[in-house]
Amino acid sequence: MPERSESESRKLLRRLRDSLAEAGAGQERLDKITHIIADSMQTEVCSIYLFRDEDTLELCATEGLKKESVHVTRMRMGEGLVGRVAKTALPINTGNAPAEKGFRYMPETGEEIYSSFLGVPIQRVGERLGVLVVQSKEARQFSDDEVYALEVVAMVVAEMTELGAFVGEGAALSALHQQPVMVRGTTGQEGAAEGRVWLHEPRVVVTNPVGDDPAKELERLHAAVDELRLSVDAMVTTVDNNDAEQVQVLEAYRMFANSRGWIRRMEEDIELGLSAEAAVEKEQSAARARLETVPDPYLRDRLHDLDDLSNRLLRILTGQGRDTGAEMPDDPILVARNIGPAELLDYGRKLRGIVLEEGSVGSHAAIVARALAIPLVIHADRITTEALNGDPILVDGDQGVVHLRPEDPVATAFRDKMAMQAEAQKRYAGLRELPATGTCGTTVSLYMNAGLMADLPSLAGSGAEGVGLFRTELQFLVRNRVPKRGELAATYARVMDAANGKRVVFRTLDIGSDKVLPYMKRLDEPNPAMGWRAIRVGLDKPGVMRMQLQALIRAAAGRPLSVMFPFVAQVEEYSQAREMLLDEIERERAMGHILPADVEIGAMLETPSLAFAPRRFFEMCDFVSIGGNDLKQFFFAADRENERVRRRYDTLNASFLSFIEMIVERCAETKTPVSFCGEDAGRPIEALCLAAMGVSCLSMRPASIGPVKHLIRRVSLKELRDVIDNARAEGVQSVRPDVNDWLARQDI
Ligand code: PEP
Ligand code: MG
Repeated sequence: MPERSESESRKLLRRLRDSLAEAGAGQERLDKITHIIADSMQTEVCSIYLFRDEDTLELCATEGLKKESVHVTRMRMGEGLVGRVAKTALPINTGNAPAEKGFRYMPETGEEIYSSFLGVPIQRVGERLGVLVVQSKEARQFSDDEVYALEVVAMVVAEMTELGAFVGEGAALSALHQQPVMVRGTTGQEGAAEGRVWLHEPRVVVTNPVGDDPAKELERLHAAVDELRLSVDAMVTTVDNNDAEQVQVLEAYRMFANSRGWIRRMEEDIELGLSAEAAVEKEQSAARARLETVPDPYLRDRLHDLDDLSNRLLRILTGQGRDTGAEMPDDPILVARNIGPAELLDYGRKLRGIVLEEGSVGSHAAIVARALAIPLVIHADRITTEALNGDPILVDGDQGVVHLRPEDPVATAFRDKMAMQAEAQKRYAGLRELPATGTCGTTVSLYMNAGLMADLPSLAGSGAEGVGLFRTELQFLVRNRVPKRGELAATYARVMDAANGKRVVFRTLDIGSDKVLPYMKRLDEPNPAMGWRAIRVGLDKPGVMRMQLQALIRAAAGRPLSVMFPFVAQVEEYSQAREMLLDEIERERAMGHILPADVEIGAMLETPSLAFAPRRFFEMCDFVSIGGNDLKQFFFAADRENERVRRRYDTLNASFLSFIEMIVERCAETKTPVSFCGEDAGRPIEALCLAAMGVSCLSMRPASIGPVKHLIRRVSLKELRDVIDNARAEGVQSVRPDVNDWLARQDI
């Protein structure tokens, strides 16, 4: 094979493109392509292997190997040289293939006479499609130019595959994005939904991968890069210089946008015959493949930045915006890499479900999804590359699983599950007016958690006695400025109106940690969950907290008001915050405003230290609410956002339950009512155990009230307490097995 000149490469690409324009079935086209490539590259063999399923490659066309091996020869990902190229997404170039590590001899192909082997991945922005191989008898390494040229050819083959050029009979020739795919992610919000895909950022379609005139393509690329640089510069000037993280991201953007290496590689791709957009995609695919192998989170973020920039560049080049003119289906399931809370709120309740490739359980998007009670699966690997607008999709938020283009039996089983859940909800609706009283006679108050006006309609339907936790930060998170007092007062008043006399416990602003307001100076804290957050911010910078308290007092106007302060760690923090509220009430009185009919003030117990506070703390509290999400993370020193450790420690761990028992006892000494408002309150077995430990009020997501009430009404909490006590006396780590055994014997 001779050194390749640019024009030869361009000629080859043009021949490939022309073959695409000719009529013919998928197999015919593939055969032709292998012939063209072998002929042009002067190798005896050219073969195309495509994925027939996630893990298996199939020889789909060949020039030079035995024809009978086509659609017969298969290998697993990682198996043989071809499988290794697919797995690593890196080329293999060897003059002595049989001596290469992992070589697997396929007798049916007759390839033993070919010594040299060059295989490159056929991939398209993170999607592995197959492997392109050339082989020849002469024992020699291919030159770097040849490797590069074959990669460019593979890019064109990838685009042709994507455009459906090789669709034909057989699994490997089935059209892309048509096979069923199951993705295992993580639960962001429970619930099940069926619908059709709505891509937040539709994929850019490259219809012409081959450029006729490199000079023109280079000009297009340079013009697009100039436009990109200007837009990045404009972004840099709008960002607050104190926002270290944003500045860092944009500086990285700027660095990439000006990176000679990146631009030079794209120029070289164009010289070899690719169109400008295909060149951008080729480099984007290579970066994505690298992304998968980079363990360093900082570098991964930078590669993500490059990916974002490539998308911007592609949109500039193709003129394809986010709005493709496609109509949103009636049952949209949003599929995105990630999404901000404001964007999610814009979609609002229209969405049936949400699937994110990234995200975290505590992210703003997850908070909003939870508030809207929309099933959410996060960490759904590669979903944005697999899904197409309009694809049928099932979201199982309980298991954290997504079925894209499901087969009938899967869809039927899923619908059965949804019907069962709906049936159960109907049954629970029958309990709406009944108390959550165990067979032992103990009654537990059930409240719901909320954070948006949109949550309030669930109050009447759920059977909740009121709102046990109203997270006020959402009104702050979704704006790009601090809301005004009047706006907040109006929102809180509407919340109270909607509650129709039922108790609503407003939690003052809990920002910091994972909840960073877009317009607040971001602090570079090494450990924000243990940093300057919640009441600490409120006390150090009292302006916003005072404004919020005034808004709450004004909203109550003649109605009872319940306020609690988050993340209190010691008594003085609480007493100062409480004084602040009492001061504001006095000021409002002096100004002649109507005061709340009654005010209750409480603290969230979210740090272990507060459980050991002096008695006067409990005396000062009208109520205490255990914020189990935070309390548990600090009790076990296990970050609630870190998937590696989040589930490691069971809520039914005997030590944790003993700690809850201690808090209940401390509250009992001063007759201070105690509730629990973390996510565990909404998990039926956990709720039962918390109630058995003496927590008499639980606040949870609305959909959990029915299942929790149902379970409480079927069992004796006193008996359960004996089960827990006996298990603890035996020295178990978690009481869960004993509780499960006992539950299995109950009539539920
Ligand atoms: C908690 O920590 O349990 C809690 C309810 O507060 P958040 O989840 O908003 O931190
Ligand atoms: Mg908390």
